[in-house]
Amino acid sequence: MRLHTFRGGVHPPSQKHLSADRSIEVLPLPPRLYIPLQQHAGAPALPVVTVGQKVAKGELLAREHGVTSAPLHAPSSGTVTAIGDFTAPHASGLPLPTIVLDTDGEEHWVESEPPPDPFSRTPEEVARQVGAAGIVGMGGANFPASVKLSKARQAGVHTLVVNGAECEPYVTCDDRLMRERATEIVDGAAIMLHALQAPRALIAIEDNKPEAVQAMRDACQNDARMTVLSLPSRYPAGSAKQLIQLLSGLETPSGGRGTDTGLLVHNVGTAYSVHRALRYGQPLISRIVTVSGGAVAEPRNLEVPLGALAVDLLNYCGGVSKDCARLLMGGPMMGQPLPGVEVPVIKGTNGILALTAAEAGEAQPASPCIRCGRCVEACPMGLLPLELSKRARSEDWSGIQALGLSDCMSCGSCAYVCPSHIPLPQYFAFARGKLAEQRREERKSAHIRELMEQRQARFARAEQAKAEAAAKRQAAKKQRAVVMEEED
Ligand code: SF4
Ligand code: SF4
Repeated sequence: MRLHTFRGGVHPPSQKHLSADRSIEVLPLPPRLYIPLQQHAGAPALPVVTVGQKVAKGELLAREHGVTSAPLHAPSSGTVTAIGDFTAPHASGLPLPTIVLDTDGEEHWVESEPPPDPFSRTPEEVARQVGAAGIVGMGGANFPASVKLSKARQAGVHTLVVNGAECEPYVTCDDRLMRERATEIVDGAAIMLHALQAPRALIAIEDNKPEAVQAMRDACQNDARMTVLSLPSRYPAGSAKQLIQLLSGLETPSGGRGTDTGLLVHNVGTAYSVHRALRYGQPLISRIVTVSGGAVAEPRNLEVPLGALAVDLLNYCGGVSKDCARLLMGGPMMGQPLPGVEVPVIKGTNGILALTAAEAGEAQPASPCIRCGRCVEACPMGLLPLELSKRARSEDWSGIQALGLSDCMSCGSCAYVCPSHIPLPQYFAFARGKLAEQRREERKSAHIRELMEQRQARFARAEQAKAEAAAKRQAAKKQRAVVMEEED
């Protein structure tokens, strides 16, 4: 199959050698797990448990709330000891409502019937089961997988893209998953094809993971619907829009969805979770996380219960050295800086990185733009990062929107190549925050206007009722006067 290309992109040092040869190890069960109610795109889940309640492994802790949401399940058996605010896995460090579970070490599973053969179920039932298992996009997007499957089937998607590109430096969890659990991923992909009623799947892997390419080829050699493709390594090839362009040559329209091109992208970790849910009835309660970086004593790939703290993982990897300059959840290009190590792993966490100052490149102060145009060449979305940042600095919000800020996917390629070390994505994040604030203010003003109009309408109705009652009283008085005159 002919591969196409996408514009821009960069080649940051992959640094995958630090952990790529470490097999997946299971993290010893931490005594306490912290499960934030918001770990997916959409509305936070609603708790269905109370403090003091004992729960079994896999038992429902919180149900989905609304169409775009996902339920949460107990990653282990134990007792719910608190439901309250706890530090979120986000740069702001702001707390989020979180269920705290003290584990009992018994790993006692909730009782359930073995699930029926997924291929005997309707596509709708399969998608529903994926939703009930709380599965979200495991590549970091965190979008509920069942919603994606249902919408894509309705849109007539013809190709499932199983994303094993894993283009972020340092991160190797998908590489290890493909090397070690390829059969399960292929089974999950076959189940998703059934849910989509689609005829083919393309399994896309960057060529810096030859063992994973071979393992996946071996696993799907008897299924003619599946093709494994080795892609040239270039960041951000693993981003959905770029991957679609690489495979089909089609560009996702501005403001549109990937499925508008007839292709649906799901991460290899998502396919693996679909296999666990539909074959064994197991919800999404754990994931593979890469712990790496020059400041980590022994980088590793760990299978981790959701809710384990970053510090649990780092300690298991021998701890962090004093020269740690930056802690990240995710990769160095698109990951979130962490406010500390007491932050829980959530469904979309693919890496915990502890980088030294040299790795983080923090010593470089920003200098003025020299209009070299490198950021424009690197942008995979065809944007003008230097102009966007200029609009952000001058607080020209309509200008920055007109230049396509909403198409920026915060990939960081522009900042990576900028010789002036201008933190371009930070300007864009600032602009997004301001625009969100503006929208909130506009919604608030519209709400106040609506309340005022309702109040005025109520007042006008009351005045009218008063006038009608007065007129009625006047008419009755007149009537009485006529009657009295007639009697006289
Ligand atoms: S790469 Fe940096 S210096 Fe060059 S044009 Fe873009 S913002 Fe300016
Ligand atoms: S962060 Fe945004 S503007 Fe910069 S290269 Fe990526 S998509 Fe383009």
